[in-house]
Amino acid sequence: MAFICRSYARGGLTWQINNMIDLRSDTVSQPTEAMRQVIANAKVGDDVFRDDPSVLGLEEYAAHLLGKEAAVFVSSGTQSNLCALMAHCQRGDEYLVGDRAHTYMYEGGGAAVLGSIQPQTVPMSATGMLDLKAAESSIKPDDAHFARTRLLCIENTTDGKVIGLTELSEGEKVARQHNLGYHLDGARLWNAAVALRVAPSAIAEPFDTVSVCLSKGLGAPVGSILVGPTSLIAEARKWRKMLGGAMRQVGLIAAAGMHALENHIDRLAIDHENARLLAEGLATVEGVSVDAQNTNMVFVTVPQGSDNLEERLAKHGINTRWAGNHSRMVLHLGIDKEDIATVVTAVNLELNS
Ligand SMILES: *Cc1c(COP(=O)(O)O)cnc(C)c1O
Repeated sequence: MAFICRSYARGGLTWQINNMIDLRSDTVSQPTEAMRQVIANAKVGDDVFRDDPSVLGLEEYAAHLLGKEAAVFVSSGTQSNLCALMAHCQRGDEYLVGDRAHTYMYEGGGAAVLGSIQPQTVPMSATGMLDLKAAESSIKPDDAHFARTRLLCIENTTDGKVIGLTELSEGEKVARQHNLGYHLDGARLWNAAVALRVAPSAIAEPFDTVSVCLSKGLGAPVGSILVGPTSLIAEARKWRKMLGGAMRQVGLIAAAGMHALENHIDRLAIDHENARLLAEGLATVEGVSVDAQNTNMVFVTVPQGSDNLEERLAKHGINTRWAGNHSRMVLHLGIDKEDIATVVTAVNLELNS
């Protein structure tokens, strides 16, 4: 491949890595040089003994940032959601979840497999919010025939779409009225907060527990955090141990997460702006339609029969994923305006020459 080994700078951040313009996901984002320095110098200890100052610092800071009592650092968003579900629900309980939600669709059925928790799916609206009427009518009566409904689970953002504060608090009312826990899969809560111009804690506020990812648009290599009340987080910490997620000198990656929280939240506005520019640019290419642009994601459709776009764009140094003639392109801190021009030009060349 022609596109190996470049050192590059984006909006004041620098990297020394081998890279293409990678639009497959924001999970591909690479640690910056500054983050690598922080990792190299991180103070560490045995986190299972609660001895790791970098983990303790990160947990305290994340709890503060999200306005909750306590936090637990976990290996992934999947593990974070699972620990939360298992902390809220017992064996034979049920949780209400969007029918396209990550927790239900893309986490291997972990709640059912490892938690013995039954998912009850609920249709989602255009914003990604659950249809609360449908959610309410799915709540089971207290009767031996039924699983016990214990938890209402929301995701923000979903496909880059932002659920606003009013809808989130309507969900809270339903949860409280029916004595359900209220959990947010906030893998990209940071993008929602930046898009709504509110503090991260404003989005977390109505929820008991919130899971956030550090390894997506924030650019940390690994890690998620679950926040919530001390009692639930203690329970989640026990499940994390059982799931094999308690790690030792893990301050090396916690330090990267701390650096990301301190330096990479506000800059998500750049990704949103770049997503808008990419959407506008691609919309000018003949044959391309942009279905939607939400926060840092652009959903693109090209004419039927435009085949091998993955390979053809790779020749231009662009990494994309296609499902038939559709692609979800995701912006992150490794993509700048120049890259967007490159992508628009390459798509035009491949489709129209
Ligand atoms: C990525 C993602 C997760 C899971 O995070 P991993 O770290 O990949 O396990 C959960 N929920 C949503 C909405 C996500 O986008």
